[in-house]
Amino acid sequence: DPEPNILLATRKNSQKLLSEWDIPFEQLEILDLIGTGRFGAVHKGKWHGDVAIKMMDIDTDDEKQLQAFKREVSYFRKTRHDFVVLFMGACMRPPHLAIVTSLCKGQTLYTHIHLRKDRFNINRTIQIATQITQGMSYLHHKGIVHKDLKSKNIFIENGKVVLTDFALFSIGRLSKQKTRKDSLVIPDGWLCYLAPELITSLKINTDGTQDMELPFSEKSDVYSFGTIWYELLAGEWPFHKQPVETVIWQVGKGLKQPLNHLQASRDVKEILMMCWSYSPDSRPIFQHIKKTILRLPKKKGLHRSPSHPLHLSRSAES
Ligand code: ATP
Repeated sequence: DPEPNILLATRKNSQKLLSEWDIPFEQLEILDLIGTGRFGAVHKGKWHGDVAIKMMDIDTDDEKQLQAFKREVSYFRKTRHDFVVLFMGACMRPPHLAIVTSLCKGQTLYTHIHLRKDRFNINRTIQIATQITQGMSYLHHKGIVHKDLKSKNIFIENGKVVLTDFALFSIGRLSKQKTRKDSLVIPDGWLCYLAPELITSLKINTDGTQDMELPFSEKSDVYSFGTIWYELLAGEWPFHKQPVETVIWQVGKGLKQPLNHLQASRDVKEILMMCWSYSPDSRPIFQHIKKTILRLPKKKGLHRSPSHPLHLSRSAES
């Protein structure tokens, strides 16, 4: 019977392909800590030049998580796009699990919008958003759902968008955290990116762990993009400063952040409404969003409040 042999050969082949991306942990030179996310630490490092090393703080005894990690790595190696971070390899032998990517220079969109309070004019807003939609439609084309598309995971490097941190969300992350049995872990600034079908699926297991296997999809990524479009336009998150419970209730009910304070054209707001559609099926695909954004009139500019300078100088973006 040739069938089992074919299966064995395929498995061996995929293991071989994966091992080509295996970086022995000892080969990495680990330098300064850049920051610590929900996942674990990200360090600057050296591996044939400057790299970013994302240490994966996952339970290596848990074979399921280890397999999930390897599965995601097998997807990463297929990514090659100008607006997607360059995957260089991964440390896949426990206890040292890490993802090695190119080191992004510049700042995240989060830093620009929320910390530096930079504001982008309409042309730049259109350019940034278009690049995000291009990177995202590429990832979707490769069968990769980002699951954590947010301004913190988008770098602006030499004026160009770089998407990071995709596909890792469900691996371990919050599920390791034991919470009070009756409370959810909601990291800061996360909720406003979550589509209604995800928000209504948030639950705690009977043992107090939080299940992160939410029903993510290409369409939930589109919802997250809607939030980024709002951040670019408004300079703040939707449901800004509202308590978590209120946000969960509103989104679950299909209520949206009101847009009457936003001084933008109907077409600009229409993009928000499409992306934030309650039903995933009603949300457009990224290619369609890109086309819609590119049809927006340029140069006219949005009316901003006087406290916000309209133009962001090039130097501010480093
Ligand atoms: P969260 O866990 O909520 O997603 P986060 O985005 O800050 O928060 P990480 O993605 O773990 O968490 O990133 C930690 C830090 O490392 C952040 O400051 C992030 O901007 C930075 N970082 C991540 N990837 C890279 C990279 N490829 N190049 C440079 N810095 C990076």
